[in-house]
Amino acid sequence: QAKHEQTFLYCYSSGLDEQHLRQLHILEQLQQAVARDELTLLLQPKIDCRSGRTIGAELLLRWHNQQLGFVGPDEFIPLAEQSGLIKRLTRWVCERAVELLEQLPVDSEHFSLSVNLSAVDLLSDEILALIADLEVQRPQLNRNLVLEVTESAIVSDPDNAIARLNWLRNKGYGVSIDDYGTGYSSLAQMRQLPVTELKIDRAFVQPLADSAVDQSIVRSTIQLAHELGLYVVAEGVEDEPSWRWLQQQGCDELQGFYFSKPISAIDFAQRLQGEAHA
Ligand code: C2E
Ligand code: CA
Ligand code: CA
Ligand code: CA
Repeated sequence: QAKHEQTFLYCYSSGLDEQHLRQLHILEQLQQAVARDELTLLLQPKIDCRSGRTIGAELLLRWHNQQLGFVGPDEFIPLAEQSGLIKRLTRWVCERAVELLEQLPVDSEHFSLSVNLSAVDLLSDEILALIADLEVQRPQLNRNLVLEVTESAIVSDPDNAIARLNWLRNKGYGVSIDDYGTGYSSLAQMRQLPVTELKIDRAFVQPLADSAVDQSIVRSTIQLAHELGLYVVAEGVEDEPSWRWLQQQGCDELQGFYFSKPISAIDFAQRLQGEAHA
């Protein structure tokens, strides 16, 4: 506590601007977020590209704090990463994933939840301990859990990151390269990585319906990824023509507002039940 006050005073007297004060406030409040039960998860449906049916979900964190109100993940996740708090959040998300797998009305042979790992998670042995703990509860977790990592998380310390990814792959977990195309790695480099899935960033997918350039990029990415034996996901599908086009290109899985925004677990369960009776 005293250390915190010192930092605060130091920053204050050195003319800290409003944005930095907000960041300090967020960090201070975020430390209590798990204990105070302020976090929730939304589920964004993962859609089979061919059939249009829901085959899983990505888990996305939401945080509501009494003092700060709703704070978006784009604001608090980077701060959680810098401070190391992210490891606590990742554990919380993964524990909820196991609970959801028990609770949701799903055929566990053909259903997976995706969770986002940060660079900090990937570069720490805590992820290995976390997975081992979860497997005590659910020994077959590898069938139903996909771990999403970004290129930037890997390039920050490739040897270290690849060692952990290998461990996850050897245990049978799906590993997805998130936001693919926004980094600087080529598919040839991706090929060296122990991953199962490529998730094409929404920057290329959103404009598909009326951008010939993005169509070329996405078409060739799908082709090459398939030749390398990777499963291909497109995120940010916002209209039906984009879905139909991706179908023609043989894309495997989709996410996007056209199908659904991220929704609560209750709404997601209802969606699954609705599809089962359709
Ligand atoms: P992401 O992993 O790339 O997640 C996808 C983001 O795109 C989500 O934003 C989702 O709501 C949004 N999205 C989905 N479909 C569409 C669409 O059709 N159009 C548009 N415009 N957006 C769409 P969200 O939930 O705000 O999350 C933002 C980022 O925060 C995530 O990007 C991820 O990097 C991070 N994040 C969220 N939850 C977690 C978490 O539990 N752990 C970690 N490490 N990061 C997380
Ligand atoms: Ca993601
Ligand atoms: Ca993404
Ligand atoms: Ca992103």
